[in-house]
Amino acid sequence: RKVIGEQVRKAMDGDINPFTKQPHSSQYKKILEARKKLPVFTQMDEFLKIFSENQIIILVGETGSGKTTQIPQFVAYSDLPHTKGKLVACTQPRRVAAMSVAKRVADEMDACSTESTPTVQLGRHVGYSIRFEDMTEPGTTFLSYMTDGTLLREATNDPSLERYSTIILDEAHERTLATDILMGLLKGVAKRRLDLKIIVMSATLDAAKFQKHFSLRSGVLATVFNVQGRTHPVEIFYTQEPEPDYLEAAIRTVLMIHRAEAEGDVLLFLTGEEEIEDACRKIKVDADDLIKQDSESVGPLVCIPLYSSLPPQQQQRIFDAPPATRSTGGPPGRKVVVSTNIAETSLTIDGIVYVVDPGFSKQKIYNPIIRVESQFVSAISKASARQRAGRAGRTKPGKCYRLFTEKDFISELEEQTHPEILKSNLSNTVLEMAKLGIKDLVRFGYVDAPPPETLMRALELLNYLSALDDDGNLTALGATMAEFPLDPQLSKLLIVSSEFKCSNEMLTITAMMSVPNVWLRPNNQRQQADAAKALLTVPDGDHLTLLNVYNQYMQNIHDKNWTWTHYLSHRALQQADNVRAQLQRTMERFDIDLVSLSDEKKLYTNIRQALVVGLHPSCGLDTQPEWVLFNEFVLTTRPYIRTVSEVRPEWLLEYAGNYFDLSTFIDGETKRALQLVINKRAGKFSKRIDSGKDNRKARK
Ligand code: ADP
Ligand code: MG
Repeated sequence: RKVIGEQVRKAMDGDINPFTKQPHSSQYKKILEARKKLPVFTQMDEFLKIFSENQIIILVGETGSGKTTQIPQFVAYSDLPHTKGKLVACTQPRRVAAMSVAKRVADEMDACSTESTPTVQLGRHVGYSIRFEDMTEPGTTFLSYMTDGTLLREATNDPSLERYSTIILDEAHERTLATDILMGLLKGVAKRRLDLKIIVMSATLDAAKFQKHFSLRSGVLATVFNVQGRTHPVEIFYTQEPEPDYLEAAIRTVLMIHRAEAEGDVLLFLTGEEEIEDACRKIKVDADDLIKQDSESVGPLVCIPLYSSLPPQQQQRIFDAPPATRSTGGPPGRKVVVSTNIAETSLTIDGIVYVVDPGFSKQKIYNPIIRVESQFVSAISKASARQRAGRAGRTKPGKCYRLFTEKDFISELEEQTHPEILKSNLSNTVLEMAKLGIKDLVRFGYVDAPPPETLMRALELLNYLSALDDDGNLTALGATMAEFPLDPQLSKLLIVSSEFKCSNEMLTITAMMSVPNVWLRPNNQRQQADAAKALLTVPDGDHLTLLNVYNQYMQNIHDKNWTWTHYLSHRALQQADNVRAQLQRTMERFDIDLVSLSDEKKLYTNIRQALVVGLHPSCGLDTQPEWVLFNEFVLTTRPYIRTVSEVRPEWLLEYAGNYFDLSTFIDGETKRALQLVINKRAGKFSKRIDSGKDNRKARK
């Protein structure tokens, strides 16, 4: 058995790449030396032994110990999936991590050779697969990093996941919705497919839950493999008083570190793109000021943002070396990474010595009573705060500045972050489960069961959309809906849009809603940007505006400056075009007509009517038009809705009567207003009957 480790080691140290049969470059050998220093690498033999003896392994190891980058490679070397026509999958909760790690692993396996054509290629041998972007090559790819959602979607068409020899669920401690469902699903698959190996990787020590979940026979727990981490002590500082403005406090703290502390990079945790870009700008301005005042004692500083919608090349910048000091013995140059939760456990940045933690993250919350899922900034858990602090101790002893009081840490923060399954809208998941053939939603092998009212709401919505029949069985429409990588409301919208003679347009709108924000609003050109936006705006609503933007973009596709002069993101629009093509292929596969009306006015009305069928407005939002329909509800410092179109209340009753069944509504403004509309219609209706009677009378 020991031979396995020896063989793998020999193959790695050898001159020929066993996957491509080409010679290893010198760059490969250089990276291999660095890899050998990772804690996971020193336990390779032990891991491979356990891997050969067990079908399921729970692997626990500190962030940065090499789990994500090394374990899938060890598995590939021992499994040799390409010789069996199979591949190894490693799931990630985040798109950024899937892309970034796949690139890194391709490089480690010899993709970055500068000497000749690379031996291993990203997208060929090692690939990644995320929603709307499949960078793998069937038959050639032997290792694929993918989002957990992508693997779950794949399972709906192949419930035994036959393509894979080993499935690695990474970042299981994050307890994302898709990972949780996969854990339930894989437990069943493991019993059917004895050749399938499963590894569940987690950065926290509470593996007991996973171990119990994956005990296939009662009383026999799944095997746990512990990676011996190497971490340095981290000193924790708290504020004396609560900080009224955490962003301001965070920027102040970063600059304090830069001025006063020894060499070492800084990691600041914030909650989202806008906040991060804002902070980077302010830190840069303040740092430049400091340097101007005193270039003798203040070193150069670069500030690097990290969030999910950042283009991949920019994401790579977090791995750049910090700026060099201006003179030998002078103040150190420093790299400041300002990141969302991505840097908490998903991506390890070496060289971080200082962590600044305001204690917040953007979290999902679902309220089944008003049927609204929203994202809002809320306090993190103690477990999260500990993970964040740990990022400071990777290379040497570090410091973590918590921008809250110790008292609040002890008494206010929850022990653990709640699993997503407890706080998400489950309509998409329930549709996927129906497609997977899972009949009993209540008794499915969840790690943690979702709240019954959330399941009820999901079933109710899917029934209302006619994706499930009254007995909860998947309908033909539901099966088609599940083929689109979209929320059920959006896939339904696409499918019905052909009846409303606007499917070409709805394809565009759906694609535009599936990509990052297309509008650019540079800080120093806000007015110009707003003016440019006004020119493209369609008064009837944001959905039609999105359509207009895309159409204009396509008309001006050969004008290289067009997006720039209109303050639009070229990248997002290109992505929308790509997404549109993919969705169109799915439409064609199911023979859904691609049609448009030539009368623009009628077309625009039809689009908004079709939107009522697919989407639904929430209750009691105080906005300018009386009735609107929106795509996203976001709660930050104040609540706001995104992608909004005005609709008429009578449409709600006409096209979405099942949903707007007033007998199920709680008393309130919405119910009263809709009741008025019903009364008015009834009034008109009875008048018509009356006049009918009159006619009959007259005829008599
Ligand atoms: P874990 O999954 O246990 O948290 P990883 O496998 O993600 O650990 O990280 C192992 C090492 O690989 C870390 O030192 C990390 O900085 C390094 N690493 C990961 N991606 C890159 C990259 N793109 N460039 C350079 N180093 C990287
Ligand atoms: Mg990892």
